[in-house]
Amino acid sequence: MLACFAKYFGERALAPRQYAEKLWEHDEWARGCYGAFCPPGLLTQHGAALRAPTGPLHWAGTETATVWSGYIDGALQSGERAAREILSG
Ligand SMILES: Cc1cc2nc3c(=O)[nH]c(=O)nc-3n(C[C@H](O)[C@H](O)[C@H](O)COP(=O)(O)OP(=O)(O)OC[C@H]3O[C@@H](n4cnc5c(N)ncnc54)[C@H](O)[C@@H]3O)c2cc1C
Repeated sequence: MLACFAKYFGERALAPRQYAEKLWEHDEWARGCYGAFCPPGLLTQHGAALRAPTGPLHWAGTETATVWSGYIDGALQSGERAAREILSG
């Protein structure tokens, strides 16, 4: 792994002064990673309900995305979709 850092940040990265590692499932607020857990079939069967507007409320968030759900790309896609819904409504 250090070799990977060195590739991007130079030779000094091969001799770190400190090393920290975090287990996100032990984090009180994250409680796991790195996205919501959806069992098989949940998104394909019920995913559309996650992004269906409720009256004036429009839902964004990576779990509502149709691509890269659980990732930054999905978060961006969902935000753009929600903004389009609001602008066109
Ligand atoms: C440790 C970790 C590593 C990750 N690594 C990657 C990676 O390498 N690549 C990648 O693509 N994705 C990665 N992800 C996933 C990515 O970070 C998420 O998919 C993305 O941030 C989700 O964006 P979001 O806008 O849907 O939700 P969030 O980023 O969770 O934003 C929701 C926001 O709403 C706020 N909020 C919550 N409740 C309320 C409330 N009641 N009122 C007001 N505000 C509220 C929260 O504080 C938060 O700021 C990682 C996630 C984690 C946790």
